Amino acid sequence: MTYQIELDRVEKHYGRFHALKEISLAIPKGQFVALVGPSGCGKSTLLRSIAGLERITSGTLRIAGEPVNDLPPRKRDLAMVFQSYALYPHMSVRDNLTYALRLKGVSRAERARRAEEVAAVIGLETLLDRRPRELSGGQRQRVAMGRAIIRQPRAFLFDEPLSNLDAALRVRMRKEVRALHDRIGATSVYVTHDQIEAMTMADHVVVLQAGRIEQQGTPMALYDRPANRFVAGFIGSPAMNFMPGVIAGDGRAVRLALPGNPVLETAIAGTPGLEVEVGIRPEHMVLGPLDAPHAVPLVVSAVETTGAASYLFTEGEPELIVTTEGTAAIRADDTIGVSIDPARVHLFEPETGASLR
Ligand code: ATP
Repeated sequence: MTYQIELDRVEKHYGRFHALKEISLAIPKGQFVALVGPSGCGKSTLLRSIAGLERITSGTLRIAGEPVNDLPPRKRDLAMVFQSYALYPHMSVRDNLTYALRLKGVSRAERARRAEEVAAVIGLETLLDRRPRELSGGQRQRVAMGRAIIRQPRAFLFDEPLSNLDAALRVRMRKEVRALHDRIGATSVYVTHDQIEAMTMADHVVVLQAGRIEQQGTPMALYDRPANRFVAGFIGSPAMNFMPGVIAGDGRAVRLALPGNPVLETAIAGTPGLEVEVGIRPEHMVLGPLDAPHAVPLVVSAVETTGAASYLFTEGEPELIVTTEGTAAIRADDTIGVSIDPARVHLFEPETGASLR
């Protein structure tokens, strides 16, 4: 199969600093891929390497099957989409959209035709004569995308394009960007530090840490089957709870370091007595009556509510978070009963953090 973008054991060094380590990634045409990870993990370096703005130290980068390691950025036929403030303030929307075409020597008539066409795709037909400052934040972001679309590139590379928008607009724009991707049949690589953005927009999510791919897969695969503790803690909000545990019984159960030392039957086989790190997501700790069988009694230290959900923080070490729907009639110092679905329990090797599943 020919991939639209393919990286094979790509490495990047900045002097002695090893910024990208053995990056292998194959992106089929039409896919929306998110690169996500904490600050400094190398996501921008990876995107810039694909664009050709950074020269990779070793490995192979292919676009539509062709090795492009030595190809300068303008010959790669990719479009970078930045935050909307990269628009030219003194130019109209029309001129912003067609600037790259003018540089390429496309005729005036053809530029005008393409501008109308792209304006229709991004829904800015009536605003072509305005300047960027006369547009809303969302409209400016659409112009930034339109400027990329008009070039009909082989792929779109997005570098945190929504990070300077307010929260509500960001939520709207992430749907809009994804819909646009689908409408024009694009291939997109999208850098973000926001795991919710990655999860909601992408077909395929790549989690990076310290220059290495920790895991890649569909959003739900990362959520349900994180390969290690890092991915488990990074994907999901609020973050997964972690606590010590010991494999118990015949090796198909785990005893948790929680009040009452509850023992959960799990599907995971291990050696009895083995110390493990147990991970349970806040939404998989279910509030119930204190006298229910297997209910774990926990004392609440604080309650945060968003209206739609409430987050109960518990006393003791480690602090846990329990998510419950709506506004719970629970206050600090109350004791709650929590049941845990054993099927939703994750076990990790304490030393390496690797999943034991
Ligand atoms: P952020 O979310 O903060 O933008 P990032 O994941 O995009 O982070 P990169 O910008 O790719 O991170 O940087 C990865 C690492 O490479 C960082 O530690 C950074 O300091 C380093 N780095 C980036 N560019 C250079 C450079 N030109 N010379 C040396 N080191 C660099």
